[in-house]
Amino acid sequence: MSSKPYRPYSEYLKTKLGYRTYKLTLDAGFTCPNRDGTKAYGGCTFCDQTGSSSRAQDKQDTITEQLLKNMEKQRKRFKADRFIAYFQSFTNTYDSVCRLKALYDEACEAHPDIIGLAISTRPDCVDEEKIALIASYKERMQYVSVEYGLQTIHNRTLDLLNRAETFEDFLSAYQLTLKYNLDHCIHVILDLPGESWEDQMQTADKLAELRVNGVKIHLLCAMEKTPLAAQYLRGEWQPLDQAAYVSLICDFMERLHPDCVIHRVAGNGHHQHVVAPLWLQKKLELMNEIDAEFARRGTRQGVKCRFLDPVSV
Ligand code: SF4
Repeated sequence: MSSKPYRPYSEYLKTKLGYRTYKLTLDAGFTCPNRDGTKAYGGCTFCDQTGSSSRAQDKQDTITEQLLKNMEKQRKRFKADRFIAYFQSFTNTYDSVCRLKALYDEACEAHPDIIGLAISTRPDCVDEEKIALIASYKERMQYVSVEYGLQTIHNRTLDLLNRAETFEDFLSAYQLTLKYNLDHCIHVILDLPGESWEDQMQTADKLAELRVNGVKIHLLCAMEKTPLAAQYLRGEWQPLDQAAYVSLICDFMERLHPDCVIHRVAGNGHHQHVVAPLWLQKKLELMNEIDAEFARRGTRQGVKCRFLDPVSV
């Protein structure tokens, strides 16, 4: 049983890998079909110029340089022993298989302490060849994972976000991911425009029904120079306050499967570039408030899960 009222990713990695492991974010210079006109222009309304990255890296550096520079920082900061190369910015399967292989190979070979590979992407940007390529790294890395930006199961909301893909795209990618037995993490966003509490709980229920391995939970957040920030500045959008988010995320996690790994309970955009809500900068305070809310309720992740038996997609 976890020391937290939910199953945190850090504990999952420590148990699975036996090390204190840290994810080193990478910007490999990808773009996104939702920006270059292949699917749409402009990107999702919440996506900033870094493609939803943590801005921990300098994209002028090679993959190896980014990893080695960040590794030394995180060894000291988090006392990390081993590392996962995390292709984070934009859509990290949006290129030919040959080019993807070269980039992933470089990351896996950059340093012996890199023992994992994680690839973040859009569900509509994988096919069997790309999933097979990612899965092939399981032969030489201790941990291989793919992360999908789902955000919500509701297509009408995806349209509002200018997402240019559907829940059905996600289901296709998810079936391939299961076929290759790949560890995976699904990104969702709470407080999306037009979504009721019930809509959001339906997303949690569906993730529980699908028995996804892990979930990264974000609150909708306006980063500078995004359409969402413009809406905020025009007074057309207001973020949740902290108390409302704490209540909502606890409701959400109560419905997830108890085995689902919680990668994050808030986004990882760089705090200097957050326009609203500014309280998101105090991550530790937020995590403490979530723990306190679960304690006040006397509940934890999974207590309201309706899908405790696995079902097929
Ligand atoms: S799919 Fe991802 S990278 Fe592309 S615009 Fe949306 S959030 Fe940004």
